[in-house]
Amino acid sequence: MRKALIFSFLFLLTASLLPAQESMHTVEFQYAGRSVLVPKLGNRVEVIPILALIGAGAEYSLSAGTYVVALGEQRLQFTPGHKLVLANGVLLNTKEAAVPSPGGIAASISFVDQSLLGPLGFRLEPIPQGYRIAPGARFADPVSVRPAAADFAATTTLVLTLDRATAAVAEPAEDGGIVVRFDDSSPRLDPTARLQSRRVRSITSNGREVVIKTSPDIGLLNSHLLDDPPRVIIELGAVIPKPTPAPAQALERSGPPPIVIDPGHGGKDTGAVGGNGLTERDLTMAVAQRLAAELEARGLAVRLTRDDGEGRALTDRTALANRLEAKLFVSLHANASTFSSVRGAETYYMSLDAQATDAAAAATAKLENEAGEASDERSDLDLILWDLAQTSALNESAELAVAVQTRLNALLDLRDRGVKQAPFVVLTGATMPAILVEIGFLSNPAEASRLARPEHQQELARAIATGIEAFLR
Ligand SMILES: [Zn+2]
Repeated sequence: MRKALIFSFLFLLTASLLPAQESMHTVEFQYAGRSVLVPKLGNRVEVIPILALIGAGAEYSLSAGTYVVALGEQRLQFTPGHKLVLANGVLLNTKEAAVPSPGGIAASISFVDQSLLGPLGFRLEPIPQGYRIAPGARFADPVSVRPAAADFAATTTLVLTLDRATAAVAEPAEDGGIVVRFDDSSPRLDPTARLQSRRVRSITSNGREVVIKTSPDIGLLNSHLLDDPPRVIIELGAVIPKPTPAPAQALERSGPPPIVIDPGHGGKDTGAVGGNGLTERDLTMAVAQRLAAELEARGLAVRLTRDDGEGRALTDRTALANRLEAKLFVSLHANASTFSSVRGAETYYMSLDAQATDAAAAATAKLENEAGEASDERSDLDLILWDLAQTSALNESAELAVAVQTRLNALLDLRDRGVKQAPFVVLTGATMPAILVEIGFLSNPAEASRLARPEHQQELARAIATGIEAFLR
C-alpha cells in the first residue's frame, strides 16, 4: 500500500491506546464534563453519539452514499465500507472502514480516534470506565524540515525534505510569499541547511507553519507532496495574471461547460479483447454513448473525445477537455487480468508520482499507458508539469471516484474492488476532476459476455451517471 499523496498521519497511536475497562454492551465517552454511554457492536462502537458529544453533526447523504460530519468550518466525509476519509479536503487512507450499524454507523476505537476525532482536532484518552475526549489532535510532534532550492531561468524549485511523513499544504501568504501549513506537527528548520536562491529571501518556521519570503512579484506556482523521503515540492515564479482565452477556444465550445467522456482506445488500437471477440475499443464507445445519453437526460452537456472508430493520442484527450474547460473528465476502459476469475469495476484517479495503490493498479496503468496511436514519449519535466496540472483537482477527483465507484459496487454487488490511484497517462494534464473507470474484466468469460449485452451496458452507464450527478450536487 502506498501513502504517497497524503502522508498518512495515522500511524502513531495504536500503541498508545490501552484497552479501557468497558461493560459488555456499552462504553462511556466523556467530554467537557458530560458523558454518554455508547453501544458496542463487537469491537466497534456507534459513532454518531460520540460525534454529538463534541457538537459535531453527522448526516447521511443518500445521493452521495456518504456520511458528512460537520463541526464548525470542518468537514469530514466518508463512505461505509471504504477505507478513505476526506478530512477538510485532504484524502486520508485509513487502515479500516466504518460500517453501517443500527445507530447509523459504527467503527473501531482506533478509527474514531485517528480518522474522525484526530482530523477534527480531538483525541481519545483511556479512562477506567471508557474514554475521555480531549481537545488537541494527538499529532503535534516536531518534524524536521530541510530546505533546498534550485534556480532555473524562469522558476525556482524549492524542496522541503521532512524527517517523517506528515500532512502539509503550501499556500500563497497574504503579505506575498508562501506559507506551508502543517496540520499535525510543528516544523523545525534544519539549522545546518544552507539555502541559496535568487527568488527566496528568507525561510522561517513559526508554530505549525513554515514562512517563505520571496523576491518581489515572485509567488507560488504549484506545490505537491512526495514521499521516500517525505518532501514538499514548491514551484516559485513570476505570478502572471491569467491570459484571456484565445478566440479559437471560444469557437470550439458553445454552451455550458461539458462533461468530457473519453471512450478508451479507438482506431487501430482495440485495447483488451475478450474471448468472445468483444474489443475494449467498441465496448467503451457503446457505454460512452449510453452514458452521454444518460447525462444529457439529466440536463448536462456532454462531449466525447473521439468518434466511432477514430483514434486519438492519450494526451490529446485531456488537452481537448482543458480547451473545452470541461467540468469533469471521465475515461472509460475495460480491464484484463492474467487471472480469468478476476471480475468487477474499478475507478482510478491520478496519482502524483510513479507509484500505484497496489501491484494490480500498477499493472492496469501499464496496460492502459501502452495504448494510443501517437507517441507518448514525454520528458520527465513534461510529466512533472502534467502532474502539477492535476494536483489542484486531485481531491475532487478522489471524491468523484468514490461517488462513481459506490454506484458500481452497488450495481455489481462488489466489495473487494474499489477506488485506486495510479499514474495513468490519459488522466495526466487534466485540470478538472478526472477519473478512469475500468467497467469490467474482458479476461473473465462470464463478465465479457455480460459486458456485450446492451442491458448491462445501459446499467453501467446509469450507475456512472448517477455517481457523476451525486458528485456535481
Ligand atoms: Zn484501456
